Amino acid sequence: MILTEKDDIDFIRKAGQIAGGVLEYLSTLVKPGISTWELDQQAEKSIIKAGAIPTFKGYRNFPACICSSVNEEVVHGIPNKKKILKEGDIISIDIGATIRTTKDGKPFDFIGDTAITLAVGKISPVLDKLLKDTQRSLYAALALCKGGCSLDDIGGAIEDIGLANAYGIVRDYGGHGIGPSYHEEPFIFNYRTGSKFKLKPGMVIAIEPMFNQGGDRVKTKTDGWTVVTQDYKPSAHFEHSLLVTDNGVEVLTRRPSEVIDNLIRD
Ligand code: MG
Repeated sequence: MILTEKDDIDFIRKAGQIAGGVLEYLSTLVKPGISTWELDQQAEKSIIKAGAIPTFKGYRNFPACICSSVNEEVVHGIPNKKKILKEGDIISIDIGATIRTTKDGKPFDFIGDTAITLAVGKISPVLDKLLKDTQRSLYAALALCKGGCSLDDIGGAIEDIGLANAYGIVRDYGGHGIGPSYHEEPFIFNYRTGSKFKLKPGMVIAIEPMFNQGGDRVKTKTDGWTVVTQDYKPSAHFEHSLLVTDNGVEVLTRRPSEVIDNLIRD
């Protein structure tokens, strides 16, 4: 989506702010003993209380408000009462918040989409590094993103960190434009493809690197949603929604306590 109207920026900021705020709240609840179902319950209550709609619930029949992906699960894990977090796990939480408005008498949605991977209690140094490196690759991509930047610039920034640390860089999933129906062109690869597609100021996109401790291959489980690594090694995922500007980006889903230096340049 390219923002064209003055009010649009307020709506997209609101959607992003709610998604980031609720994700930060959920991150405080992540500890041994909590179920992913309970996290989803809290997400639903918080999103609605903040005045938004849970984007994911019902999207292509997804049954929950968050994707909760534990350890070898990469993305799209379904919250479950039986999935209880334990010390040493990692959990990726992906969340979407929708602000519904009307345009020309029809519903029109603005969406904030963001994800984080968190440690459950104390995790191994190797896992801690996986989380930090994946987040670092997101920040590296955000740092060079601006109007005129190519998709290959973004993919390259992520790929460089993934390759330097010998991670499997997930190829089957990636970032995307965000529009009223959620996913939109362009698909944003987390590696170089030779794409010359250039971002334009006013575009709203999500960048979301996923690094695996092992190989890059993934598969979907029989529930039709949960994506896991083929070698069952752990995986991390970080995502922000952002507004592209002439000279940088505005990170729309920044969490209240998240410090992102030198990125919000206007
Ligand atoms: Mg996304």
